[in-house]
Amino acid sequence: MEATFKQLVDLEAICAEIDRLDACLAEFPGEEAVVAAGIRDAKAALEAARAALEHEELEERRLEAAMKDQEALILKLNHQSAQVASNEAYTALQNELEAAEAAKTDFETQALEHMEAIDAAKEVLAKEEAALASVEGAAPDQLADIAARRKGVEDERSGQVAEHDKIAPAIDAKLLTRFEKIRARKKPAIGVIEGKTCPVCKIALPRVRVSEIMALEGVFDCSNCKRLLAPAKAFE
Ligand SMILES: [Zn+2]
Repeated sequence: MEATFKQLVDLEAICAEIDRLDACLAEFPGEEAVVAAGIRDAKAALEAARAALEHEELEERRLEAAMKDQEALILKLNHQSAQVASNEAYTALQNELEAAEAAKTDFETQALEHMEAIDAAKEVLAKEEAALASVEGAAPDQLADIAARRKGVEDERSGQVAEHDKIAPAIDAKLLTRFEKIRARKKPAIGVIEGKTCPVCKIALPRVRVSEIMALEGVFDCSNCKRLLAPAKAFE
C-alpha cells in the first residue's frame, strides 16, 4: 500500500506539472497576438498620418486656387475701373477691389498656415514610417523567441507525459480511474494526512476513518471533500 500511495502522489505531482505547462502553452497565442497588434497599430497610425497629410495638402491646394481666383478678379476689376465713366461706378469698383484684395490676403494667410501644417504632417508621417519599420523589423525575432520558448515547454510536457505513462500502468486500474475522476473536479486529488483533519479541506475526520487510513489497508477518501487520503507514515 505504501508503494501505491507513493505512486499516486508522484502521479499527482506529474499531473500538476502538466497542468502548469498547459497553462504556459495557453499564454503563447496571446504573446503572438501582442506582436501582431503592434504591427496593426503601427500600420493604422501610419495610415492616419498619411490621411492627415493628404487632407492638409488638399486644403492648401484649395486655398491656392481661391487665391488665384481672387487675383484674376482683381485683374478684371482693375481693367474695368480704367474704363468706367461715372464716379459712382468707379467707387463701386473700388469697393469690390478692396473686398477682393482682402479676400486674397485672407486666403494667402490661411495657405501659409496650411503649409506649416503640411510640414508638421510630413514629420509625423516620417516618424510613423520609422515606427512601423522598427516594429516590423523586431517582429521576426520576437516570434522566433516565442516559438523557441513554446518548443521548450512542449518538450518539457512530452517528458512529463512520458513519466506519467511510466507510472500510471503500475497503479491499480480502478484506483487510477477513481483518482482521475476526482482530479477532473478537484486539485489536488490526493492529500497526505498527518493528524486527524483532511490536509486540503481541513475538516476533522471521523475517528473510524482516521484509523482506516492509518491501518494502510486501502485507499480511503475524505468524508467531506472525497479526496483520496494518504497517511504521512506511508512516506517515512
Ligand atoms: Zn477533505
